[in-house]
Amino acid sequence: MVQAMLADMATEIYATRMMVLNAAWETDQGLDPRAKVSMVKYYSSEALGRVVDKAVQIFGGMGYCSDMPIERLYRDARVYRIFDGTSDIHRVVVARGLLKGPLDI
Ligand SMILES: Cc1cc2nc3c(=O)[nH]c(=O)nc-3n(C[C@H](O)[C@H](O)[C@H](O)COP(=O)(O)OP(=O)(O)OC[C@H]3O[C@@H](n4cnc5c(N)ncnc54)[C@H](O)[C@@H]3O)c2cc1C
Repeated sequence: MVQAMLADMATEIYATRMMVLNAAWETDQGLDPRAKVSMVKYYSSEALGRVVDKAVQIFGGMGYCSDMPIERLYRDARVYRIFDGTSDIHRVVVARGLLKGPLDI
């Protein structure tokens, strides 16, 4: 079960990294990056929540104790879905991009 969680975490981190690189590359090409950047912010902050939640699970009770850095990481991760545009607002931006026409995804 721990290996499955580690595989999920690694996959989400890899997917996030690829999204960041692709959005950065498209921005460098002069393409309108707004919808893609919102996808990246939305996906990465939600993925962060899932990844750090699994990390707490792996550590068990110790993951919940303030003696361990993972407890702080878990708390800090939550705010990424709020600041710099909430997940809801970024989904609005993505939907707006979709309504303008097909996105190159
Ligand atoms: C630790 C921290 C650091 C921050 N740093 C900065 C900073 O450096 N610079 C800066 O400018 N701001 C900063 N902020 C502010 C941050 O960007 C805002 O908190 C964030 O944009 C959400 O705005 P709000 O708190 O007013 O929530 P609200 O806008 O009141 O939103 C409340 C809820 O309603 C939802 N909601 C609101 N409007 C819509 C809509 N149209 N459709 C669907 N759902 C909606 C939101 O998603 C959220 O769930 C920071 C916030 C925190 C917590």
